[in-house]
Amino acid sequence: MLKAAYRKLEVISVTDQLTGLFNRHQLDNMIDREIRRAARNKERVALYMIDIDYFKKYNDFYGHLAGDEALKKVADTLRQTCARPGDFLFRFGGEEFCVVIMQANEESIIPFGNRIRAAVEARSIPHETNPNSRFLTISIGAVTWIPKPGEEIKEYFEHADRALYESKRKGRNFVTMNV
Ligand code: GH3
Ligand code: MG
Ligand code: MG
Repeated sequence: MLKAAYRKLEVISVTDQLTGLFNRHQLDNMIDREIRRAARNKERVALYMIDIDYFKKYNDFYGHLAGDEALKKVADTLRQTCARPGDFLFRFGGEEFCVVIMQANEESIIPFGNRIRAAVEARSIPHETNPNSRFLTISIGAVTWIPKPGEEIKEYFEHADRALYESKRKGRNFVTMNV
């Protein structure tokens, strides 16, 4: 009984309660380890920062509960699209998600980003107040690199964030890679 309770507590502390994805805390734990492994094996990593477009408008129009449901649907779509072993998915906070792909292929970074972007739009979550689409859309900032031993991952998050900002600036529902 106590054992089961402990196990539940463990699951709760590593996953986000709303979406069931790993949470920010887990991102730090897991990614450090994975990045070190990638550095040892000289493998390419891809990092995608994902942010829902006009989500404030969505909440204003449909209500916060509907907003929560939409977040679950987006998380679900991400889970289906990024389902390979070595794909790591996190709820970064609020309406932001983060995908880390191990053993990434350089030519596939943008196409895969577009597959994620298109999958969310194709989920057809109505978003009447989205100026770009009838449906809920996301913007993505991507960065790719081959980790070096002892390297800080923080700066790559900043790169991905800048790329995401660029996708927003270009009009949203867009993928940008920081080179
Ligand atoms: P942009 O296209 O520039 O990203 O615009 P935006 O409206 O999505 O961005 P902004 O950061 O202004 O708003 C994010 C909104 O996401 C505001 C907040 O109410 C909503 N949000 C964040 N977390 C949650 C959540 O857990 N549930 C719900 N329903 N809404 C959330
Ligand atoms: Mg945001
Ligand atoms: Mg947003």
